[in-house]
Amino acid sequence: PDSKVHMNLLESHSFINYKKNLENVKIVQERLKRPLTYAEKLLYGHLDNPHEQEIERGVSYLQLRPDRVACQDATAQMAILQFMSANMDQVQTPSTVHCDHLIQAQVGGPKDLARACDLNKEVYDFLATACAKYNIGFWKPGSGIIHQIILENYAFPGALLIGCDSHTPNAGGLGQLAIGVGGADAVDVMAGLPWELKAPKILGVKLTGRMNGWASPKDIILKLAGITTVKGGTGKIVEYFGDGVSTFSCTGMATICNMGAEIGATTSTFPYNQSMAAYLNATGRSDIAKFADIYQNTFLKADEGAEYDEVIEIDLNTLEPHINGPFTPDLATPISKVKEVAVANGWPLEVKVGLIGSCTNSSYEDMTRSANIIKDAAAHGLTSKALFNVSPGSEQIRATIARDGQLKTFQDFGGVVMANACGPCIGQWDRQDIKKGDKNTIVSSFNRNFTARNDGNPATHAFVASPEMVTAFAIAGDLRFNPITDKLKDKDGNEFLLEEPHGEGLPARGYDPGENTYQAPPKDRSTVTVAVSPTSDRLQLLTPFKPWDGKDPEHLPILIKAVGKTTTDHISMAGPWLKYRGHLQNISNNYMIGATNAENGEANKVKNHYTGLLPLNFVDKADYDKINPDDEVDIIGLTTFAPGKNLTLRVHPKDGKSWECELSHTFNEQQIEWFKAGSALNRMAAMFAA
Ligand code: SF4
Repeated sequence: PDSKVHMNLLESHSFINYKKNLENVKIVQERLKRPLTYAEKLLYGHLDNPHEQEIERGVSYLQLRPDRVACQDATAQMAILQFMSANMDQVQTPSTVHCDHLIQAQVGGPKDLARACDLNKEVYDFLATACAKYNIGFWKPGSGIIHQIILENYAFPGALLIGCDSHTPNAGGLGQLAIGVGGADAVDVMAGLPWELKAPKILGVKLTGRMNGWASPKDIILKLAGITTVKGGTGKIVEYFGDGVSTFSCTGMATICNMGAEIGATTSTFPYNQSMAAYLNATGRSDIAKFADIYQNTFLKADEGAEYDEVIEIDLNTLEPHINGPFTPDLATPISKVKEVAVANGWPLEVKVGLIGSCTNSSYEDMTRSANIIKDAAAHGLTSKALFNVSPGSEQIRATIARDGQLKTFQDFGGVVMANACGPCIGQWDRQDIKKGDKNTIVSSFNRNFTARNDGNPATHAFVASPEMVTAFAIAGDLRFNPITDKLKDKDGNEFLLEEPHGEGLPARGYDPGENTYQAPPKDRSTVTVAVSPTSDRLQLLTPFKPWDGKDPEHLPILIKAVGKTTTDHISMAGPWLKYRGHLQNISNNYMIGATNAENGEANKVKNHYTGLLPLNFVDKADYDKINPDDEVDIIGLTTFAPGKNLTLRVHPKDGKSWECELSHTFNEQQIEWFKAGSALNRMAAMFAA
C-alpha cells in the first residue's frame, strides 16, 4: 500500500499519501475515542498537527494541509499577484489556473473564444507567464470550466482541495473534500502555510432505493435545497450515505456536490465507491482506482456507528423531477405541481430559452440523455420551440460528443453550442431575443438563478432543473409541460409521450481529449518573465505593505461608519468592477461604495483617508453607536497583542472628553505575526529569505 502513485497524469512531482492520511486518522480516532464519519476522516487525515489539534465539530479551528489549489481566471489574478509578493520561486502546494469566466457567449463556440482571447489578451498573457514562472498548471481559454477540468484530471478519492470558486465542491463526486475559498486563503496555501477552517458539523443525507423514470441526480439536490433552504448547510459538510449512493454515476454525484453550494454547505462528499473507480478508469487513472481500492475499508470509508449532527433521508424510489426557482435555487417544485404553481404565481408560461451544460451538468451521461430525448422528438418531426444553448464543461466533453454525434443532434434540433466556458451561467451572455425589462422564462441545468444572474435582466424568471427536464421544456416551449403525463403532437398531429431518458454513463469508445489546451510549467522557469504592463488598467504588481511600527496607533480617523445592510456586495461590488480584479488600486476604488455612510445617510460618499485595517469587534455592541464619524481613535494594547486578550479603544470625540471601551479579536499567534510583519506574505517572504 505504500507504493508511489501520482495524483494525476500531468504532474511528476505530486503523489497520493494515503499512508500519512490514515496515520493521522488513527491518531485522531485514538484521541477522540469515537467512530468518525467519512468527511471527518478526510478532514482529519489532512491535519497539520493531529496530536495536538483541538477537535470539536462546530467549535474548533482546524489547521489543515490541502493537497492542491485551483483558481479560475477572475480570482487567480489577485491571488497570483499576492503570491508574487512572497518572493518564492514556486508554489509550495500543487496548483492550477483555469480560463473559463471571461468568455462571453454571443454567437457560438469558436467565434466567441476568439473574441475573448482578443479582449482579455493581457490578462491571459499575465496568467500564462505567471503560471510558467511559479510552476502552476495553466488551462488556456477554451479548455473548459474549472470544476469539470478538476474532475477529469485532478480529483481523487480522499483528497483535500481548495479552490477560489463557490462550486469547487463539484469534486466531491470523486469522494474527496473540495472547498471553495477566497483568494487570500488560496495564496496562504500556495505559499506553504497551513489552512484554517472552523471544524464543520456533518449533515448526513441518507439515500435509499433507486431513481427511475425522469428523475436524475440533479433532482436529489434540487429536493434537498427545498428542504434545507439556501442557509441550511452553513458551517456543515454534507455527507451522503445509504444503499442509494452506489446506484448512480460518479458524474451524477459531482452534480449533487456542485450544487451543495446552493444550500451554503462548506462542501459535500460521497464515500468512495465503484462508480468512482469506473470514472477514474475511463479518465486514464486506473492506478489511482487500484490504490483507492486498497484503502476502501480503512481511510476511504466512514467508521461503523459514526454519528452525524443531523440526518435527512431521501427515498430515491419516489423522487420526482423538480424545477427550482424563480430567483432562488431553494424554491423547489416537483414536476407534478409545476402547472398549478406556475399559473397561481403568474410565472411567464412560455419557455424562451433552454440552456444545458455548465460545470454542474455537462457530463457525457447528461449529454447522451438529452440527445436521446431530442432524437425521440426528432423521430416525430419536432425541433426545439425554445432557443436552445449548450455549454460543454470541457474540451474533452465537446470533442467526445462531436465524435459520437450528440453535438450534431443538438445542432439539428436548433441548438447553439457555446464555448467550453461559464458563459450564460455567470452573466457572460449577449442575449438578443428579448429586451431588458421584458418578463420571460428561461430554464437551465445550471446551479444558480439569482435575479439577473444569467442575462442581466431582473425580469427574467430563471429556473434550474436537470438537463433532461430542460430539454423537455425546450421541446414543448411551455413551463406547464410534464413529460411524464403530458402528450405532445407529432408533425401529423398524432399524440405521443416522450420516451423516458436513457443514456451512457461513460463513453463506450473512451473520451476524446480534443485539442490540447494545457500549458505545463517549463523545465527551466528562471528565464520566464511575468507579463504585466506598467500602464495596464487591469493588472498591477503589488508592493508589499509596510510592517507594523511597533507602537499603538493613535488618533486614527474613522474611515466610514456604516449603517444598515453591509454584505460583501456592499463592501466590494461586482459587475463592471470584475474587470479590475488584477489591479489593486483600481479595484480599491469600489471599497465600501455600496455601504450607507452613517455620517450622511448616503452610499459612495466618504472622507478620503489612507491607512490600513485591523479587524476588531466591540465587546459591548452598544459602544458602536457612541462613535461619531468625525471622532479619532487610539488602539491600545498592541505591544502586548496576544490571542484571547482584549484590546482597548480610546475615543477622542471632536468636542468632548475622551472615553474608552473594550475590543475583542480572533487573531491567533500566527496571525499576530502576520499583523506585525505587515501581511502574511511579508512574513512568508522573511521566513523564505531566512
Ligand atoms: Fe461558476 Fe457557472 Fe462557471 Fe460553474 S459554470 S464555475 S457555476 S460561473
